[in-house]
Amino acid sequence: MFKNIPFLDLGATYKELQNELDTSYKRIMKSGWYILGSEIENFENEYAQYCEAKYCVGVANGLDALSLALLACGVEKGDEVIVPTNTYIASWLAVTNIGATPIPVEPNLKTYNLDIDLIENAITSKTKALMPVHLYGQPADMIKIKKLAAQYDLKIIEDGAQAHGAKINDRRIGSHGDAVAWSFYPGKNLGAYGDGGAVTTNSEEVFERLKVLRNYGSKVKYVNEICGVNSRLDPLQAAFLSVKLKFLDEWNHRRSLIASNYLKYLNSDSILLPFVPDNLEPVWHLFVIQSENRDFLQEHLKKDGISTLIHYPIPPYKQKAYSSLGFDSLMFPRASSIADKVLSLPIGPHLSFEDSFRVIEVVNKFSKN
Ligand SMILES: *Cc1c(COP(=O)(O)O)cnc(C)c1O
Repeated sequence: MFKNIPFLDLGATYKELQNELDTSYKRIMKSGWYILGSEIENFENEYAQYCEAKYCVGVANGLDALSLALLACGVEKGDEVIVPTNTYIASWLAVTNIGATPIPVEPNLKTYNLDIDLIENAITSKTKALMPVHLYGQPADMIKIKKLAAQYDLKIIEDGAQAHGAKINDRRIGSHGDAVAWSFYPGKNLGAYGDGGAVTTNSEEVFERLKVLRNYGSKVKYVNEICGVNSRLDPLQAAFLSVKLKFLDEWNHRRSLIASNYLKYLNSDSILLPFVPDNLEPVWHLFVIQSENRDFLQEHLKKDGISTLIHYPIPPYKQKAYSSLGFDSLMFPRASSIADKVLSLPIGPHLSFEDSFRVIEVVNKFSKN
């Protein structure tokens, strides 16, 4: 009998770091201090440093990180923001939640990230910002995106929710654009034990605005400068994240070893493997393959106890939630085709080599016929 291979074993992260996490938990419970404060500041400093950014502001989750980053960069109601067609819906929701308009741009079919050649056509007099998403853990082409932003005087708000630690030419994601939004949802490469998020930036102005925005629009208690929100990172989660941050590089390395095996040994004629440009160091948040017979392949793996997921089965523009934006279902064929064919194989810091080789064996038995 085979054993089941989960898509991602989150409980294993606690088992590996139990002592340190429990110590943090007790320290905070005993401290009597449960909102903002030194645990948050410590993590913010550590994470800014890790990301090679000057500043970091902890917030309640990744969606808020994106919305608040847009606001802090001056994006307002009525402005247009360029977003990828192929992304998690949070990237779009952040734009629509602040009353701005998402302008979709199709991805490059090899990298899954924004197709740089299509961005210029989408820019209008209302365009205020670009929102590249470093999807599946692989950085978007920030060098070209920055050139375009400078040329058209646009802000860049990056969605880094899947790319903690990823590098472009040896420099980490964290301060290429005006602000980078992060999610610490448990399944992310750096994940909390609950919700959490942050924004990193090199701009002191954006940093100061974020601190006010996340805390009721207030710097001094009971003095409210603007209409802010309540979106603070929880001190318990901040302390857990500080513990886990020390292991992020090692855990990303373990992911990359599994990805290397997949890239080397997966040889089914019916699948397409991920492509990594030379100057990028992805962190393999997901290992996404494509198959014309995706649903059969997923079923084939399920029969062998191997869990897979689809990221994402319905692109944002086809979601009922966005029916009011009036997109025709045939409007973005690349995003559509990706949604029909992608399949994410198990990957994570606690997936054993043995299990990854069984995934390879079972996928390789699957052929077109
Ligand atoms: C997870 C994720 C988010 C949202 O993060 P939450 O913390 O769940 O709000 C945003 N964008 C992308 C690409 C994500 O994967």
